[in-house]
Amino acid sequence: MTTHAFWLAGRQATGDTTFDVHNSYDGRLVGTVAEPTEAQVEEAVAAAHAVVDEFAATPAHVRAKALNHVADRLIERTEEIAQLISAENGKPIKWARGEVGRAVSVFRFSAEEARRWNSGEAQRLDTDAGGTGRMAITRRIPKGVVLGIAPFNFPLNLSAHKVAPAIAVGAPIILKPAPATPISSLILGELLAETDLPAGSWSVLTVPNDRMPALVQDERLPVISFTGSGPVGYAIMDSVPRKHCTLELGGNGAAVVLADYASEADLDWAAGRIATFSNYQGGQSCISVQRVIADATVYDRLLPKIVAAVEAQVTGDPADDATDVGPLVSEDAAKRVESWVDEAVTAGAKLLAGGKRDGATYAPTVLAEVPADVTISCEEIFGPVLTVKKVDGEAEAFAAVNDSKYGLQAGVFTHDLQTAFRAHRALEVGGVVIGDAPSYRADQMPYGGAKQSGVGREGVKFAMDDYTYERVLVLTGL
Ligand code: NAD
Repeated sequence: MTTHAFWLAGRQATGDTTFDVHNSYDGRLVGTVAEPTEAQVEEAVAAAHAVVDEFAATPAHVRAKALNHVADRLIERTEEIAQLISAENGKPIKWARGEVGRAVSVFRFSAEEARRWNSGEAQRLDTDAGGTGRMAITRRIPKGVVLGIAPFNFPLNLSAHKVAPAIAVGAPIILKPAPATPISSLILGELLAETDLPAGSWSVLTVPNDRMPALVQDERLPVISFTGSGPVGYAIMDSVPRKHCTLELGGNGAAVVLADYASEADLDWAAGRIATFSNYQGGQSCISVQRVIADATVYDRLLPKIVAAVEAQVTGDPADDATDVGPLVSEDAAKRVESWVDEAVTAGAKLLAGGKRDGATYAPTVLAEVPADVTISCEEIFGPVLTVKKVDGEAEAFAAVNDSKYGLQAGVFTHDLQTAFRAHRALEVGGVVIGDAPSYRADQMPYGGAKQSGVGREGVKFAMDDYTYERVLVLTGL
């Protein structure tokens, strides 16, 4: 098996050390990956810094062409890349194919936005005497090199969310993939290398975590776009208070089922969506359903439907088309999930489904009557486990959603338009999804958290805003 090279200023390179990537389902070696030396990291940063002005001045049609090229090639190589994502991440192959499709959308949207970018706006300034004969024109300018730090759970698409908007605005990007899942980002590098973007404008560096603080501190990288866990994200932001940091962090997504969502068809739909989206990616999605909050009038009919739908989830080999739930990213991750479920059950929670571990795979699990002070009630489980809570009415349901330090997305199953607007106003989250689980994300929409779920927004256009600042041109004597 050959060693996967990293990408240093648009070309492949290897360093003095490597690390292995294993499939968490069967433990097999998926690939060996080269790590850059300190000198190579310095070379990539210097190269990116050197092309800040050149890249910002690259014509929009050139950047759009490169972005569309990557989208085209992702389509052509979908099956191969999906299998790789599935192997390195443990994600069921059907979800991995979907992830490649999402990444295609991110590159396509970025190509479209690249063409719209920098048109700016003209403002009249003669609104008072000092502005007579003057006008202003604005344009958005890249802040400089972006350091994009990606998590393991959507290794291709969340890397795409860092890289594509940066190219769209003409900001050089250094991408740092997660150590468990770097290979799909290195394949993304292959596609970028087929374009004629300036060499220094992009790198994919497999820097080990213990050397990341030096990169984070580097003043030539003024923008950090981080997706991952809260402790790591906040430590980064605290260490560089003068930098622009976007933090996309964890959540414990709630799905609310209200009294008006009461027909058999309604409850079947809600239960099916809840079961699917508490388990897809093994529950390792920041917008997985972790908490179901159901009105007392529908609770007794909804609960058995949820249990049945969860038990119908097929657990197994992620390479198998029939598999709904694969392994977690590691056996340690599954043991952590197991310990949180055990803690809840010992404290009095009722185990209605699952509750078993087999290596890195944890069975889809449903818990009811979970005490408020156990870990699973307070923290992000990041595993295929949901808790179900009974509430009386909309106000109590919304209060239960907000009774969390997280606030990423919430789903509200209701048919009532006014309830939908009240939910939008009342729920302390970055996104409210009506009629579905909280797990819906389209790649162009603003995406990010309230409270401890993050700072700033991704979603192509919104990341482009984050990577740039408004510069105004004042014209005098007109
Ligand atoms: P993580 O925080 O362990 O790692 C994220 C990235 O940070 C990895 O690339 C890692 O190598 C890097 N890293 C680790 N230590 C670092 C340091 N000291 N300095 C700089 N970088 C460092 O997260 P993870 O386990 O890969 O991902 C899971 C988490 O990500 C969950 O909490 C999940 O909710 C969150 N997540 C959030 C979103 C979102 O958009 N809000 C999306 C996906 C995942």
